Amino acid sequence: MRLLNRFKRRPEPQWRPPSDQPIEVPEMDHELNVRLRVPSRSDPSLLFDANIFRLSCTCPNFSNKRSLFGPRDVRRICPHLYQAICDAGLDQNWPRLFSVIMQHGRRFFRFRRVTDRANQADIAFGFNGEEPHIGIFAVIGPLPTVAGYNVQDRMWIGDRPADHEAYLKQQIDKVFFPEND
Ligand SMILES: [Zn+2]
Repeated sequence: MRLLNRFKRRPEPQWRPPSDQPIEVPEMDHELNVRLRVPSRSDPSLLFDANIFRLSCTCPNFSNKRSLFGPRDVRRICPHLYQAICDAGLDQNWPRLFSVIMQHGRRFFRFRRVTDRANQADIAFGFNGEEPHIGIFAVIGPLPTVAGYNVQDRMWIGDRPADHEAYLKQQIDKVFFPEND
């Protein structure tokens, strides 16, 4: 047995989805507790009622997938709420990361946020259970960065985040390959 062990290869580290975390939008003014009519994107004659204060909407996307998340959870935001939030100019006052998630990250239902003040980085990793395709939504310095990564094949999907590739890889390792620490 001992002999065999000497030849045993160290196994490739396996990725693991981290536990997810709610990412909450900032507290909102009561004035926003109104019903807004927002057209469906596929059929503009169809209108949904969106309420920004409650983060609620009458569309099927909201009722089927989003309504169970906590009252200020960013995962409640359907396309119509996103539209209403932009129309109200709210996203301008929120930390930039929210715009990046609301615009690019809506297909993910699990998030893990990493705030790294030393590197002026605010990162949300989006993932869906065991699916190896993850989304990276980040604001590093003043600039937003969006990228896709396959944690199984360890490869970027589409465009690499040119300026921050090495840094983001380190962060991915910490979050999705914790045994390597
Ligand atoms: Zn909606």
